[in-house]
Amino acid sequence: MLRALRPRVWRLSVRSTGNAHLSTICAAPARRAAPAPKAVLAHEPHLVDAAPQSLPLSADGRVALLGLPLPALQRWLVNLGERQSRAEQLFAELYRRAAGSGDVLRMQALSADFRSRLAPLVDTSGDVTLTSVVPASDGTRKLLFALAGGGTVEAVIIPARNGSRTTLCVSSQLGCAMNCQFCATARMGLRRNLTAAQMVGQVLAAKRLLLAEAGVTDDTPRTGSITNPIGNIVWMGMGEPLHNVNEVMTALEVVLDPAGLAFSHNRVTVSTSGLVPAIRRFVTHSTASLAVSLNATSDEVRSYIMPVNRKHPLDELLSTLRELFGPHSPVAHRRRDVVFLEYVLLAGVNDTDADIQRLVDIARSLPCKVNLITFNPHDGTPFKPSPQEALLRFRHALASAGVVVTIRESRGDDQMAACGQLGKPEETELYKPPPPRMKPPPSIRDAVLG
Ligand code: SAH
Repeated sequence: MLRALRPRVWRLSVRSTGNAHLSTICAAPARRAAPAPKAVLAHEPHLVDAAPQSLPLSADGRVALLGLPLPALQRWLVNLGERQSRAEQLFAELYRRAAGSGDVLRMQALSADFRSRLAPLVDTSGDVTLTSVVPASDGTRKLLFALAGGGTVEAVIIPARNGSRTTLCVSSQLGCAMNCQFCATARMGLRRNLTAAQMVGQVLAAKRLLLAEAGVTDDTPRTGSITNPIGNIVWMGMGEPLHNVNEVMTALEVVLDPAGLAFSHNRVTVSTSGLVPAIRRFVTHSTASLAVSLNATSDEVRSYIMPVNRKHPLDELLSTLRELFGPHSPVAHRRRDVVFLEYVLLAGVNDTDADIQRLVDIARSLPCKVNLITFNPHDGTPFKPSPQEALLRFRHALASAGVVVTIRESRGDDQMAACGQLGKPEETELYKPPPPRMKPPPSIRDAVLG
């Protein structure tokens, strides 16, 4: 009786491990003994194993709620003496509706009591603030996010066309370490990894923006389901997602959880430059789709335009993909999957007839679909897009060989919102000098240096 009348107060004690992300949080009683977690767990025997808490923190030291997978949220709340169902309600409020502010205090489905206990402990901003929305002439919109702690990352909303669905392109890092020679983001170098919260924060901000435009807000009556305005998510913004694979996979848990953002695994694609060990981990432990930026058919050219190829050359990359995809995959959930191969056409660099033949051979050697991409130029780049005619020749040869092939048109390029155009190398916060330009091999020297 007494307990019911007296508001419970939680206190956080944070044991610093030197990495806010891995700090341990435990609830401590403030004025009187909080219900012993063990007593609560006795009713939830399956949670006993999951007792140690290891929760990510936001920049201001609160629990980073966005990107926290449901099982971890359940463990935390149960440890605080709450019912497990509170975690499910909170998760639904955060992700399934996702309209309006994301303010815990306004989540009507949660009891007022719980809301006021929870609000001071958690951060729901994801440590990203949407600062501007830049429209391009084709309807694509670039979203700029300020990161808590400095720096700006970008996401892109690519609206539906020809019956397709709206696609959201998200960033995984501020800058990138891969130094792909044709990519604008690479000129920034790697400045910071994004947290799972910062990636889920981009998705939620885009979802809220689109829902608000459709007239759905915090105050919209909560009857019936609300259609998700985002059809596909692609991790093709700034950064190399598999160079930040832990945080990306954590964000994916929330994105794919039917109780969370509830995306189907074939509507979420992670794109990589070819970090083979991380590909293996990702393919094994996540069900999201994989795209690999192939971009060349010989080690000579690929090692120049994508220096990651020096560490993981084509043979290693392709044999790993052959092993992991297709009917004999050791990973059961990949046996019916294909990998997407992306190929940006660069004039005189990777668009010869010999490239066409080698690309056909590669594509026929593994279960894949090929995406041909028009090169989007940016300041200072030595590359030029291949003529349209080359693109059509590639498509024709691949299609004639029975390969599923699509051409990805450039979208948003008048506002630097297209593939490979994201990021501001000149941004002074967290500035790093640009990485060195690689020396082109003799066979394509003239095409590059003119
Ligand atoms: N680092 C990841 C994801 C980011 S790049 C990767 O390499 O896959 C996303 C896609 O854009 C890749 O396929 C990449 O090859 C392509 N890309 C990069 N710069 C480009 C540019 N300037 N024009 C067109 N596509 C580009």
